[in-house]
Amino acid sequence: MKNVAVLGSTGSIGVNALDVISRLHGRFNIVALSALSNIDILAKQSNLVRPKIVCVGDEALARKAKSAMPAGTRIVHGLMGLREIVVRRDVDMVIFAVSGTACLVPLLDAIENRKGIALANKEALVSAGPIVMSLAHKNGVNIIPIDSEHSAIFQCINGRSENVAKIYLTGSGGPLLDVKREKFDSIPAKLILKHPRWRMGKKITVDSATMMNKGLEIIEAKHLFSIDENLIDVIVHPEAIVHSMVEFKDAAIIAQLGVPDMRLPIEYALTFPHRADAIVKRVDFVKVGSLTFRKPDLKKFPCLGLARAAACADGLAPAVLCASDEEAVKSYLDGEIKFSDIPRIIEKVLTLHKNVRGSFSINDVLGADAWAREETKRLCYH
Ligand code: NDP
Ligand code: MG
Repeated sequence: MKNVAVLGSTGSIGVNALDVISRLHGRFNIVALSALSNIDILAKQSNLVRPKIVCVGDEALARKAKSAMPAGTRIVHGLMGLREIVVRRDVDMVIFAVSGTACLVPLLDAIENRKGIALANKEALVSAGPIVMSLAHKNGVNIIPIDSEHSAIFQCINGRSENVAKIYLTGSGGPLLDVKREKFDSIPAKLILKHPRWRMGKKITVDSATMMNKGLEIIEAKHLFSIDENLIDVIVHPEAIVHSMVEFKDAAIIAQLGVPDMRLPIEYALTFPHRADAIVKRVDFVKVGSLTFRKPDLKKFPCLGLARAAACADGLAPAVLCASDEEAVKSYLDGEIKFSDIPRIIEKVLTLHKNVRGSFSINDVLGADAWAREETKRLCYH
């Protein structure tokens, strides 16, 4: 029986993770849960799984949550609360399902303390990839990706990374794939939040619409599989059945396929290196009919190009990209900026940033992150 902490348990991945764990009957014991502000869902989850400790966004929320939690549950808050959870002796494995860079420091703590890592969050790896990966190597920690493309690549490579020639990172193309660019700004946010294939949190759904999600995934793959970004090709695959493919040096290609349901990569990350019984539906190829592939339109989706440029620039550029995107998406969802402002503002912030190449510290990353947020807010709210 493994003891698991689920950080971001009230979100889309978090809820799916709890469902997977409940279906894996008695193999995992949930020790900790966390939310930012969604106390109602957190309380429901806690009364069901009875964790020893829960974390919420701040002290006021912690006080508010008290009466709703089962007796004896320790309630902590903020960054320090997450940090306390991941270093607990009774935690064997941490599922990182928090969105944004907020879980970067707890991720480093968990790696330092040699916890098993099931990583859904991509922003931490994008911002501080070299730091996260070198700490993982130093501590002999295997980071198991939950992001569906990276789970696919992980399964395809299957430990034979020296033979990899190329990665095909697939993406459904998001809700605006077949919409004309001129119409982007007139589409209400609530329609953009309806993804054709996946039910996800708001931030990643907007990122799918701008295709920044695929851009962040290039950087995520670059670090996870230590492969040059030029060897990572993005291809649009609207059916979302092929979750990514790896081409080996002899031109053989191995792909991982499955229905678009995050519970499969979550289950795999939890049970790796073994496979458990299916929780998700099986693919019905006859029903699917055909699998199609297209080239992404970089003019329509400039975020993809911005992310690739940040990947090439390296240094702190990815941290700036990531933080600027998070703030720009927030402003868009708050109705402060138009959809087409998102790439425009991120590009401006990247241009203003004086990049530092070579090695950098976690404080450098946090500094670049804070700077990029301020600049982005200034441009969004001026
Ligand atoms: P959601 O927005 O649905 O959930 C985010 C979770 O993190 C919630 O529990 C939220 O709490 C909590 N949270 C948000 N901000 C903070 C913060 N600053 N500090 C602490 N906790 C916080 O996101 P998703 O589940 O969609 O995504 C989670 C991560 O997984 C992202 O990094 C995303 O890119 C990645 N991912 C998601 C996929 C998906 O299918 N959803 C697919 C692949 C990757 P509260 O509910 O209280 O707001
Ligand atoms: Mg993905």
